[in-house]
This record gives sequence, structure tokens and C-alpha cells, in this order.
Amino acid sequence: MTSAPSFPASARSPQLVCRPQPLALYIHWPFCRSKCPYCDFNSHVRESIDEERWRRALVAELGHYAAETAGRPIASIFFGGGTPSLMAPETVASVLERVRGLWPVAAEVEITLEANPNSVEAERFGALAAAGINRVSLGIQALDEHALKFLGRAHGLAEAYGAIELARRSFGRFSFDLIYGRPGQSVEAWERELTHAIGLAGEHLSVYQLTIEPSTAFATARARGDFVMPDEETEAALYESTGALLESVGLPAYEISNHACRGAECRHNLAYWRYRDYVGVGPGAHGRLSIGSEKVATRQRRVPETWLAAVESKGHGTEERFALDQEARRAELVMMGLRLVEGIPRGRFESELGLSVETALDHGRLTPLIDAGFLSLDTERLAATAAGRQRLNAVLSALL
Ligand code: SF4
Repeated sequence: MTSAPSFPASARSPQLVCRPQPLALYIHWPFCRSKCPYCDFNSHVRESIDEERWRRALVAELGHYAAETAGRPIASIFFGGGTPSLMAPETVASVLERVRGLWPVAAEVEITLEANPNSVEAERFGALAAAGINRVSLGIQALDEHALKFLGRAHGLAEAYGAIELARRSFGRFSFDLIYGRPGQSVEAWERELTHAIGLAGEHLSVYQLTIEPSTAFATARARGDFVMPDEETEAALYESTGALLESVGLPAYEISNHACRGAECRHNLAYWRYRDYVGVGPGAHGRLSIGSEKVATRQRRVPETWLAAVESKGHGTEERFALDQEARRAELVMMGLRLVEGIPRGRFESELGLSVETALDHGRLTPLIDAGFLSLDTERLAATAAGRQRLNAVLSALL
């Protein structure tokens, strides 16, 4: 893996200071076949898409960001969405070719594409691998026909199995997502489903607890009384049994919802959680770029057609761009880093904020969280304990 050194500034050698920092690159494809009722991502359903126009726009926006990050090596690329497996493999190949023309690309670059298991999309896996994709993340979500229907998924169980098998054969690395904490789901039923999933899994699994986000179809349905979510006690039991079961088979958590064999972590997502730089291209994509002593936040226009028109008229669809102040950088560093089991090395506080952990964080807030067993702080790092990660939102609001 290509990774940025995170030593204290004072410990860096001149050679390391001069080496261009690697970049992660995110590319957003905003279209889906249908809208899942739990989804609050920037995903849209359109009857038809002029894919050639979209290809030209993505390539143009890459050029815009390359101009200010020239020479920095790309360590990972992630096609997210939406459903990027709906992109024609030729579009993916063309985007990747442009990336290679604009930046140096690390020899061991990780190139992930999110895919849905519908058979039409799975049939493209071979061509996507030929285009350069070397890791796929599949939205399986459940290994239960009834649950797939409840989640509004456009695939059935047979397609899920077929896609997992094709992913295994087509790509060097693959992962799939599952959603648990569904209405009526018992710990025993979930453990059976997860055990089944482990039998199908490769080196990585993402397991997300179902949350009801505002403005989704599920928010309306729950308010109407269509279903009742599990109580807190059941949710806690589900979370704990998930961690224990996956750990016991060699897929320990490395982040709240992500589990992998050692060395098989998603390097792209690690870049976010380690608060490294990333470029975000496509509708609604976010970026973080260290420029001089500043950390610049970028966000592209969210509505696909508005983004497209902006790129066509001025070469980029950036809607927001501003330097984060010290307080925002501190909050982001902590919120991202405490998601990881490895926590935040002390050196990252120094290199990002120019402050020690003790100076960056309020002693009166930090100490009670350590005493209560939610955080740990030693000579190396600040980390959330397993109990802390389980209630990270509460820990973060107490800390920040
Ligand atoms: S396929 Fe994924 S991005 Fe698209 S609507 Fe469903 S959950 Fe959202």
C-alpha cells in the first residue's frame, strides 16, 4: 500500500517532506435502476442517460483537479454511487486512461467499483476487470429473499449468489455489504445469515446496521407504523455478535462496520479515515486537499443535470470550496480517526494540527471518557475501545 508518513513534523526527514503526498480519487456515478427505501445517498433514477456526454464531463472535471494536484501519485481510485456498475466498461476504461494521463499512478493502485448484483451488471464484470478495476464492492445487503424485498432491492437471492461467484472469478479482490438490525430480526437469525455470508465471503465484508435516515421512504413508512425497528438492547446484541463472529473467523473489524483479513482493508476508505487527501469528482462528490498549510474542502454540485451543465460550461462542477478552520480540521480528524480500531497516532495530531493530543483535546472532556472505558490514550495513539466504537456518536459529542 502507498501511504503517507504520519510522523510528527519535527521528526520528518527533508526527503520525506519533499515527496509528493499520495492522493485518493473518488468518482461518483449518480444513477441507479430504482431508489432503495433506506437510501439517502446522492442517487437518482433517470429513464435514459447520454453516457458519452457523461464520460466527457467526468474526464473534463478530472483535468480541472489534476491542474492543482499535478505530480501527486494516485494510490487508490473508487467508483461509487449511485450504481457505477451501470457504467459501460468502455466509460470506466476511458476515465481510467485519463487518470493515468493526468497523474502518476502507483504500481499497486487499488481500483474499486461498487456494483449491484443484478445479472445484467454482473455480466459486465469481466469487461470491467479488463478496463482496470481490480476490486469490487457488491451491494448484496441480505441473504434472505424476504429481507431483500423489504429493503427494496432490485435483485433476488439467486442473483446475489451468482454475482458473488462472478466477482470472485473476475477480480483480484472483492467485498460485499450486508445490512442488519432489520425489523423483527433476532440475534439467532442474524447469526445464521452472517455465518452463511462468511462461507461466501472473500477477504473483506462490510456490515451496516440499518438506520432510518430523514427524507427516505423508510422514514415515512416507519412514521406510518408500517414497521418497528429493533430496540436498543437488541441493536447492541446484534452489533456485539457481529463483531465476535467475524473476529472468530479471521475477519476482525478494522472500522466500525468494516471487517477484513489483515492487509485486505479497503485502502481507499482508509485514506478518508486517516484524514489523508482525496479528490472527489462527479455530482455531489466531496474532496479534501492539503494546499500549503491549508486543508481545502471541496463539494461538487449535487443534482446530476446541474453538475453536467456546470462542467460543460466551465470545466468543473464545484459548488463549494473553502479552507477548513482549525476547529473543523480537529473535529474531522477525530471523527474520522476514531472510527478505526487503530485509532489516531499521536503524530497525526502534530502533522495535521501542529498540536499534541493533550493540547488539541479538552482534558476535562477526554479524561472521563478514558476513565469510563470508551477511549484509550497511550504513548502511541488515541483510540476508541470496542465499547466506545459501539456508541461513537455519543462519545464524539462528549469529546468535541
Ligand atoms: S442501489 Fe445503492 S445508491 Fe442506489 S438507491 Fe439503492 S442503496 Fe442507494
